Amino acid sequence: MKYDIIIAGTGCAGLSFIYFLLKSSLKDKNILLIDQENPNPLDKTWCYWSDKPLELHPKDKVVSWKKIRVSKNHKNEPHSLKSLNYYHLKSSDFQKHIKDFLLDFPNVHYLVDQVTEISDLGDYCNVATKNNGSILGQKVVNSIPNLVEFNFKSNVRQIFTGWTISTEQNVFDKDSATLMEFNAVPNDHVNFIYILPYSANEALIEYTIFSEHDIETSLLEPSLDSYIKQQLKIDQFTILSKEHGVIPMTNTLKKIKNQKNIVNIGTAGGATKASTGYTFYNVQKQVKQIIQLLENNNDFDAYSPFTSKRFMFYDNIILNIIKKWPEKTPKIFVEMFAKNKPEMVLKFLNEETTLWEEINILKNLPLYICIKSLLNYEKY
Ligand SMILES: Cc1cc2nc3c(=O)[nH]c(=O)nc-3n(C[C@H](O)[C@H](O)[C@H](O)COP(=O)(O)OP(=O)(O)OC[C@H]3O[C@@H](n4cnc5c(N)ncnc54)[C@H](O)[C@@H]3O)c2cc1C
Repeated sequence: MKYDIIIAGTGCAGLSFIYFLLKSSLKDKNILLIDQENPNPLDKTWCYWSDKPLELHPKDKVVSWKKIRVSKNHKNEPHSLKSLNYYHLKSSDFQKHIKDFLLDFPNVHYLVDQVTEISDLGDYCNVATKNNGSILGQKVVNSIPNLVEFNFKSNVRQIFTGWTISTEQNVFDKDSATLMEFNAVPNDHVNFIYILPYSANEALIEYTIFSEHDIETSLLEPSLDSYIKQQLKIDQFTILSKEHGVIPMTNTLKKIKNQKNIVNIGTAGGATKASTGYTFYNVQKQVKQIIQLLENNNDFDAYSPFTSKRFMFYDNIILNIIKKWPEKTPKIFVEMFAKNKPEMVLKFLNEETTLWEEINILKNLPLYICIKSLLNYEKY
């Protein structure tokens, strides 16, 4: 039995892909989804900004904020987002929504198994699995990061740990999300606190650092705890849930060439924005482009990264500062938002600005450190 399309990995990218595939002219194809057994799945908090919720955001699960804070001091005034919203979605709600949608499609099959290798045999692909042997597919769409070889050794990563807490008192400003509160914790790394207040007494609070080295996320918990107690002055709180993660901050994955019948998507396919780690919104753009390629009968090696060289260049400038002059990093982000219209900065970070708009944003950044980064330019 040979499937028309095998989707390896059913996280954010794999499920986004199948959703839009079933809305396309290819909806009757014989499709197999494969993901490994996940006894303790992490319920991730995915956020993105947009003027309205994205098409696959379940309508009854829309949580959003109209104001965001990017500061070196929690007391700074938040920025108003005008036409945009900062949207929030739980990965468990997203998975349920897409899996319910799949029930109407008998041509979509699901296999729980570990994929060990994917190879392009020219006319079709072989997907090797741990328990079910070889499975053949005409095309394979892969979002399993371990199956993509790339050199991650010298690159910066975003490492974070977060707690959703509830408090007795009303302590949170429920109208403003804090994207980055820099230097909230004394540390040699670039670090910031991220806060999503769900109500006046419930919020997700995350401690993030940018590091070139692996750090066990549990080691960040004492700093998170002392931030909550000392900076937010919350002595009594209940931890409702925890999340943690490591997100690669690199352009390397964008440059990996796809094979004729195998394409990488999601983080594995370079959809993660190198300077910020945001991925969700990019995934939606990426999967739609790949489906169009399939609808036009093109091979995957015809697909070039959706990020232009221009945006990779800007990301390299910022990553260079993060790596070589970490103490200057807060100023870059804080001034980018303070000296430009925040919705324009977000459009820039979504890689949807024109060159002219980018020049207007970049001219407001701290000039000295940007020139220093340019003179010491490196690709990440
Ligand atoms: C805690 C957390 C919060 C995040 N928050 C945001 C956010 O707010 N906004 C944003 O834009 N981005 C965010 N990100 C980044 C990014 O959006 C997510 O990591 C997203 O899940 C990436 O989607 P993906 O499909 O590439 O990978 P995943 O969602 O991780 O999917 C990969 C899938 O492959 C499966 N798999 C792995 N190995 C195998 C194997 N050998 N065989 C079979 N299956 C396998 C996994 O089980 C998984 O289901 C966050 C990341 C984390 C970790």
